[in-house]
Amino acid sequence: MKIGCPREIKPQEFRVGLTPNAAREAVAHGHSVIIETQAGAGSGFDDAAYVDAGAEIVGTAEEVFATAEMIVKVKEPQAVERKMLREGQLLFTYLHLAPDPDQTHDLLASGCTAIAYETVTDDRGGLPLLAPMSEVAGRLAPQVGAWTLQKANGGRGVLMGGVPGVGPARVVVIGGGVVGTHAARIAAGMGADVTVLDRSLPRLRYLDDVFRSEFKNQYSTAGATAELIQEADMVIGAVLIPGAAAPKLISREQLSTMKPGAVLVDVAIDQGGCFETSRATTHADPIYEVDGIMHYCVANMPGAVARTSTIALGNATLPFLLALADKGWRQACLDDPHLMAGLNVHAGKLTYYAVGKALGIDV
Ligand code: NAD
Repeated sequence: MKIGCPREIKPQEFRVGLTPNAAREAVAHGHSVIIETQAGAGSGFDDAAYVDAGAEIVGTAEEVFATAEMIVKVKEPQAVERKMLREGQLLFTYLHLAPDPDQTHDLLASGCTAIAYETVTDDRGGLPLLAPMSEVAGRLAPQVGAWTLQKANGGRGVLMGGVPGVGPARVVVIGGGVVGTHAARIAAGMGADVTVLDRSLPRLRYLDDVFRSEFKNQYSTAGATAELIQEADMVIGAVLIPGAAAPKLISREQLSTMKPGAVLVDVAIDQGGCFETSRATTHADPIYEVDGIMHYCVANMPGAVARTSTIALGNATLPFLLALADKGWRQACLDDPHLMAGLNVHAGKLTYYAVGKALGIDV
């Protein structure tokens, strides 16, 4: 199969759909790979690395879309890219169609077959192509929070690990899923005193079994949250209620109960945020202050560490990509119900129930 990877054109997107190592594997499987020039530059992969892997570099996205049988990307295709998609072409990328009727209609009109990273599933009920980005955002959260805690950035001027004779920062993580667990581990690794709140008892049991020596855990109630945030230097919001907007777990009123210069890192901002005072920010202007409390609410945190994110995403997508290329999308999906769960659009038809329901389109 001819696999094509264009350069991402969404603003502030530095990731790339195919790493040189993934390209090398595809070539070893007998496929040909074409890459738009400079597609990997934002992630630190130059054209020569792809050529060395056996790929061909082409000058424009048009050439990639015109000749590839499968297009591999990171972000949903932008309007100009959607115009280039062809009938029968396979698209493998993040789509997030439910809130995006324009994209959905364009994909249907193109006649392409589109498999969305975010709806591919695994045996344990997880989302294996979303998890790497949650791991990245979770591990990044204490890092950006620690920077925000510094005095010059408006924070309390507290060092995460303290020093001998001075206690560490107190960090509260609300939500102990993928983001929360990775955030807690890094914060604890920096020497902070960490408590994770979750509403799922099985999850709390798991955290207790595995991470008891690294951080504390507590059942999440409004009362427990209210008590813990009064002493916190940093609160990391990492909750998710699948298919719903994030619940608001800290009100504006409660900010006055916190220590001045404490930091809120709202990782759940991409679902609306779990603090009442959260509003989405960008990497260019990531923090702001409300009532003396610093907020960090960047909706695409993994973009800050594009190289790590690209490699992590590539590791997760590679087995699916090879199955699609080796067998063709139809057989690959018939063989693997988890990949089939990723199928959102085929030949002018929507094939994903939740998207159809959200947009009022027949599935
Ligand atoms: P997850 O499903 O693995 O974990 C969510 C956890 O929240 C679950 O353990 C659940 O029990 C818990 N929870 C739900 N309601 C709660 C409550 N009231 N109190 C305490 N815990 C509660 O999800 P995840 O992959 O960790 O993602 C968390 C959030 O981070 C999502 O909103 C996701 O979209 C977001 N995210 C944002 C970025 C970014 O760049 N900003 C990147 C990746 C993920």
